[in-house]
Amino acid sequence: MQAADTLQGFVFEQFAVRGYLVRLDASWRALIEHHTYPDPIRHALGEGVAATLLLAATLKFDGQLILQVQGPGPMHLMVIQTTSNFGVRGVARFRTDAPMEGLGLKGLSGEGQLTVTVENKDRSSRYQGVVPLVGERFAACFESYFERSEQLPTRLWLTATDQGVAGLLLQRLPSGASASSAELEHAVSLGDDDWNRVVTLAATVTPSELATLSPEALLWRLFNEEQVRLFDSSPVFFQCACSRERVSGILRALGEVEVKEIVAEQGGVEVRCEFCNRLWRYDPVDALGIFLGDESLSPPKLLQ
Ligand SMILES: [Zn+2]
Repeated sequence: MQAADTLQGFVFEQFAVRGYLVRLDASWRALIEHHTYPDPIRHALGEGVAATLLLAATLKFDGQLILQVQGPGPMHLMVIQTTSNFGVRGVARFRTDAPMEGLGLKGLSGEGQLTVTVENKDRSSRYQGVVPLVGERFAACFESYFERSEQLPTRLWLTATDQGVAGLLLQRLPSGASASSAELEHAVSLGDDDWNRVVTLAATVTPSELATLSPEALLWRLFNEEQVRLFDSSPVFFQCACSRERVSGILRALGEVEVKEIVAEQGGVEVRCEFCNRLWRYDPVDALGIFLGDESLSPPKLLQ
């Protein structure tokens, strides 16, 4: 089975622990294709992308999940967005004059914070959780996020290189919780010893194993004495949500006076999407046309 650019769920048959494996190769390269990131930032973004997809896999929603890391450090903003079917995009903004050699996530963002927002498509519900960055690695920060927001013990192992990113998540589920969940149909109570043993086994995973082994081979390598059941895998892909409607919304939010000034100075308006590098062009007629109210539009929405 091709394991690249997929997300794979699994469950331990004997006890209430579920897990997910994610690996991005081509989709990761597409995500960073138009950016020149310093190594520490590319590494942090890659781990963030893997972690965001793993988090999305654990949640029930139909819409988008947005992760933001913000702080006063050299990397002042990182934004990663995934849809509930794992179309992902992400970008990091940084100061080019700042030294960042050897810095981890906390150092790069300057002791910033991690914000997770989950929005359903129909806007029926919106959830936001904010935690301080507690460590230099995304895994530790996400573990702290899960502890605070989901109250479910969760462990992550992440790896990122230029070629690909990958991650493993294990989550301990409440015994007897959510009988509706098919994942739990065989689950019985789980003792601390069992959880600790599974975590200890998972912690022996190497970055190279995460990045190269098929899900079957990896789970066999880590948990061959346990009964693990794999679910169907889901494709993971790079997807940018930018559209002419959204860009028009940004220009409308900017205001007619400002847009007229840009048109007068530059003969039109050009907006480049930070995520996918696509250039949206408006000639003077297009640019002023968006203020005529002939486009029926969703409310203005900023491209991050
Ligand atoms: Zn775009």
